[in-house]
Parts: sequence; structure tokens; C-alpha cells
Amino acid sequence: MSIKTYDTIIIGAGWSGSVAAKQLTAKGHSVLVLEARDRIGGRARTYVNGNDKVDLGCSWIHGYKEGNPARGIAKELGVDAHLPKSFEGVIYGPEGPLSSEQAASLRSSLSSAQAAFKLPHPAPPSSASLASALFADSSPLFKSSATPSSDAANTNVSSTSPANPSEGAPSSKAGYDKALAEGLARTLEVPLGLKLEKASLKWAGWESTTSFAGSDAAPDGGYQDLVKKVLDSSRAEVKLSQKVTGIKQSEDGATIKVVTSQGEFEGKTIISTIPLGVLKTLPEGFFQPALPPKFTETIAGTHVGILEKLLLQYDEAWWPNASTTGSYTFLPIGPTPTENSSIEEIFNGSSLITANFNAPSLPNPSPTLLTYLSETPAKLLLVKPKEEVLKGFHQFLVKRLGVKANGGENRVVSEPKAGELTDWLKDEYSYGATTTPSIVSQGDERSPMDFKELGRPVWNGKLGFAGEHTEMEHRGSVAGAVVSGLREAERVNRLLNLLKE
Ligand SMILES: Cc1cc2nc3c(=O)[nH]c(=O)nc-3n(C[C@H](O)[C@H](O)[C@H](O)COP(=O)(O)OP(=O)(O)OC[C@H]3O[C@@H](n4cnc5c(N)ncnc54)[C@H](O)[C@@H]3O)c2cc1C
Repeated sequence: MSIKTYDTIIIGAGWSGSVAAKQLTAKGHSVLVLEARDRIGGRARTYVNGNDKVDLGCSWIHGYKEGNPARGIAKELGVDAHLPKSFEGVIYGPEGPLSSEQAASLRSSLSSAQAAFKLPHPAPPSSASLASALFADSSPLFKSSATPSSDAANTNVSSTSPANPSEGAPSSKAGYDKALAEGLARTLEVPLGLKLEKASLKWAGWESTTSFAGSDAAPDGGYQDLVKKVLDSSRAEVKLSQKVTGIKQSEDGATIKVVTSQGEFEGKTIISTIPLGVLKTLPEGFFQPALPPKFTETIAGTHVGILEKLLLQYDEAWWPNASTTGSYTFLPIGPTPTENSSIEEIFNGSSLITANFNAPSLPNPSPTLLTYLSETPAKLLLVKPKEEVLKGFHQFLVKRLGVKANGGENRVVSEPKAGELTDWLKDEYSYGATTTPSIVSQGDERSPMDFKELGRPVWNGKLGFAGEHTEMEHRGSVAGAVVSGLREAERVNRLLNLLKE
């Protein structure tokens, strides 16, 4: 029995696959989308509990006012996005909340250090890490300085986005405390997705000159629903729960067979949006013929980062200044945790950013705290029982936020009514959060060009690659996924038109 030959088969129904499907069907091509999960969205996943919706994967349209194409897509589909107002972010040291002056001084020093180490010239060796420069004795991170005005100190804050802990820092600085400064610098590991020791100094800040940044907006209803709307608005056929297990080109090169857990499908062209973390695990023979050696080397060498979210929901907001504080940053009060550390020791020894969803800057404030976990705490906590981690984090918050469990300061601390801890790291359809900036390498093997390499089509252009990992200038973001989907759809459209001539 002959099977239908689609113009294009797209593997993956995340942002990149959905955007590509919409574009290609709009040009009149027949498209089949094969998705391994039983839902659309990929790394756009929204936690829903009653009226509360919290994104557990991507949550922000970074660079909303600066040209992120996701803005136009949301608008076209009638989805509003919300730009939260800035609310004060409070930093907690070992003795409780830092004064506005001290916090501003720390942020300012970190900001100066980041500026000093942005694309250093002359370029350092590719083996040098961002940590080696940031934590050197001469680093601007450790420079003492003058006291800023308290107004300036209060302006840094944030939203609930962890994009850059030093953003908005005032130009004058005060205070000097090496441990606190190091602790704050460690929060950079949240948006970077990797330890500062692994981040390349040579390429530090390279993307900040090209990627969308500035204003952050959150799509109403959550990101998962938005991606579903994108795919629903296409004319593509969509099949869920179809894990692709092989992609094979016919001998004459005219068609490509895609084998899944449920059957076989045929296309003239293929766009794979399989995330880099998953590409790393594919068995030999998945692609027939095999990908070029340079391509497979780049898959193996390019880094996928770790970022997890830990969510606690309460009946009421018990934490201090719950209606005026945007986020709480907890600097370590214990030694760097190891595999032998208890849950309490892991939280105590980590730099953590906790977003306060009760802040009135958000469209539907709710008594919810969402914490971003960087590589070190994430890896250590993910091997512990989830319920124990949620319980331990509640106890940590009660202790660090200085509220007595017996209702001291006239506050009654309720137990969480719900919680969630993501595990993107072990999720077999992502194996990690997103790609990271370039990592250290011995002989210049790694650079942003890796992301170009990962987006190069093979098989005379008939097998293409999209996804955040294929965009040199916007990797690791929704913008990267969207731009890559548009890029591949346009390229495949041209190819299909040529094939039809
Ligand atoms: C915790 C977290 C927070 C983030 N925060 C932000 C943020 O605020 N702003 C931002 O811009 N970005 C953020 N990101 C990054 C953003 O989510 C991703 O860059 C983007 O969603 C990636 O889209 P994609 O289409 O490239 O990949 P995906 O969304 O992962 O889509 C790929 C699809 O392929 C499917 N698949 C995998 N293997 C197979 C197979 N064998 N067969 C069939 N299907 C398969 C997967 O199930 C998935 O649906 C965040 C990511 C994480 C994890």
C-alpha cells in the first residue's frame, strides 16, 4: 500500500516546529508534525492550578519592545502580553536582608565586572573561564566604592525574570564584602545555565550584543497555550505521542522516511527540531546516511545547560513585603554543597533567586513563590525525593525570610498547598534546559559558530534543523526557536518550489 508523501515532515511541536508548520502551510505545502509527547509546546509548559497559571519552562518574551518576533505572533493570535512594572528585589545575606545601599553596591560591582569582562580584548585563551576573571583579586567585583543614594539603590529590581541580576545597577558603588559579592555573582549561573567555571571568558557577553534583551513580557494564559494556538492556526496535520526513532533517505534521494514508535511516514523534506540534549543521545544509525563528522562533533561538544524551577503555592502570602517586593535573592549561608549534602545544606550553600508572584505588577497576583535553580543545586536536589525537596524549601524560606514558625511578627505561616519541581535535565525529550553560551575549550574548538553548524541543512538541503540550538544570535531562547522556525520554513519553501519546477 502506498503511503502519502508530505511536502515536509516536521519533528517536534515546540516553538520552532509550530512556527515552521504555520509558515509552510500558509505557502500551500502539505505538512505533518510528529511530536513525541502527548502535548504541544515542548519546553513551553504551563502549570495550572485553578486560576493560577505558572510557566515551568519559558516564561518571558525577552526583548518584547526590542523586536522579539514572538510579540507579533502573540498579537496576531489575539494573545496579550503583560509587561510587569519593576518592583524592588531584596537580597538576603547571612544576617537577613541587606540594606538598599549595600545591595546597590553589590549589584554595581557585579555590573562593573560584567562590563569589564565583556568580550575582553585582546582575546584570552579559549581555556580561560569567566570565573577566573570574575573572582580574580583585581576583579571590579571586589572593588570598594562610594555609597550610592538610596533612591538609586531602590531602582534595581526586578521583575520576576532572572535575566541579569546586575541590570539597572546605579553607577556609584559602596561596600565591600567578598563573600557576598561572590554569592551574587553566582546568580549569573541561573540565566547562563552553567557554572561560571565552565563559561568561556573569550566569548563572555557575546550574545548580549545580538540577542533580544531589555524589556520582558509574559504572555497572558501562559506560554504553552500560545504555542498551541500557533500550531492550531496552521493547516498542518499533527500527530502526538509519535517518538521518532529514525530518519532515512531513499536511495534516489527523492523521499525521506521517518520511523516513529507508531508507524512510518514519508516526506520530500524534513525539518528536525529535536533539542540538542536529545540529539546527543540518538543511537548510531538514527540518521541514514549519517550526519557529517563535523556535525556530530559539534553535537557532542556544544553544551546544554541546566535550569530548573521550584514552585510553592500557599493559601495566603506570609512572606515580608509580599505586595511590594518583586523577588528575593538568597546568598549562601553555608559551604558549597556536595553530593553528600542534606537538602537543607544544599539550599543554605546556594545562591537562589525567588520570584514573588504576589507582586501586584503581575496580571493575576497569587500567593506563589517560584525559585530558579542553577546547575549546582538543581543537580543535587533532583536526586532527592521531590516531596522532601518541597518541604525542605518551605522550611528554608521560613528561616531565611525571618518569619517565626509560631507566627512571630503577627504572621501565620501556612504550609504550602501545592508545589512542583521541574526535571528538564532527565526529561527524555529535552535532556536539559537550553543550550548555554560557549564553554571553555582547550584549542578554540568551541565558539558561537557551533550554533550555525547545528543549523546547517544536509542531504542537499532536504533535511534541515531548527530549534533554539540552531540560532547563533538568539540561542537558548524563544526568540531563537521562533527565528529558526521562520528561517527553515523559508529555506524549505524555496527548495520545494524548485523541486516542483
Ligand atoms: C526552565 C526554563 C526556562 C526558560 N525561560 C525562558 C524565558 O523566560 N524566555 C525565553 O525566551 N526562553 C526561555 N527558555 C528557553 C525556551 O523555552 C526554549 O528556547 C524554547 O522553548 C525551545 O523551543 P524549541 O522549539 O527549540 O524546542 P522544544 O520546545 O524543546 O521543542 C522540541 C520538540 O521536539 C520534541 N521531540 C524531542 N525528541 C523527539 C523525538 N525523538 N520525536 C518526536 N519529537 C521529539 C519535544 O518533545 C519537543 O516538543 C526557558 C527554558 C527552560 C527549560
